[in-house]
Amino acid sequence: MTFIPKDWRPRDGELGDKCILVTGAGDGIGRAAALAFAKYGAEVLLLGRTEAKLEAVYDEILAQGGTRPAIVPADLAKTGHDELQALAGELSHSLPKLDGLLHNASILGDRKPLAQTSAAKWHETMQVNVNAAFMLTQAMLPLLEQAPSASIVFTSSGVGRRGRAYWGGYAVSKFATEGLMQVLADELGGISAIRVNSLNPGAVNTAMRRTAYPAEPPHTNPDPSELMASWVFLMSDSSSQVHGQALNAQD
Ligand code: NDP
Repeated sequence: MTFIPKDWRPRDGELGDKCILVTGAGDGIGRAAALAFAKYGAEVLLLGRTEAKLEAVYDEILAQGGTRPAIVPADLAKTGHDELQALAGELSHSLPKLDGLLHNASILGDRKPLAQTSAAKWHETMQVNVNAAFMLTQAMLPLLEQAPSASIVFTSSGVGRRGRAYWGGYAVSKFATEGLMQVLADELGGISAIRVNSLNPGAVNTAMRRTAYPAEPPHTNPDPSELMASWVFLMSDSSSQVHGQALNAQD
């Protein structure tokens, strides 16, 4: 059972008047989430490292009649505190508030035994999957506080809830992601209108999944666009009471 109420369906304009920042918006789950948020009326800020992919999503959103999105080029492996604070400063000139933040961008890192994991790959995995999410959250909190009911979603994984051999820094980064969610949720509970949750997508047919499981036929797993109800629900006011939870998008 997923966490979405059984009879819940997003209505037209479910996310109207909301502005949502999606990291890793150019491909896979982030791309599908950006398209779904726009379909239900949100203005989407598309953050990612490959501009051509972000431009393609931008065009798709306009083609489906969505609100004009914004492209935010950023390589989270190389972006630090100062750049993210500057980005928040720039956004605050044009945006009165930020209603949603989907931390989706991640890398797999080394799929090797820990004994053979390179320190450089370990650091890069932690940087993209955890450190950048921490710094981006910190930078965006003032804008999120301006929204009447903001939602932060951290993207987790099954291996972030139970460790598994050869998932290395990726698994450890997802445990840290859960920790980041829990600490922030506990800090904000009762004093803020921001809700904070983690979402494990389950197995989804994306480039990351195909890299992690090269022998698996791709269509074993659903395409990201088939699963977007969970992401839309978590960004909609329908989930305003869902806070501090580690959620699963699939049974
Ligand atoms: P993909 O690899 O298909 O897409 C990841 C996206 O993140 C891409 O757009 C990629 O950009 C972007 N990204 C990667 N590194 C950076 C970086 N340094 N800076 C900015 N953007 C970056 O992954 P998925 O869509 O499969 O995964 C999305 C999330 O879901 C991840 O957090 C993943 O851990 C999680 N997840 C996925 C599962 C699955 O089965 N697919 C299962 C469990 C969890 P670019 O396009 O340029 O490569």
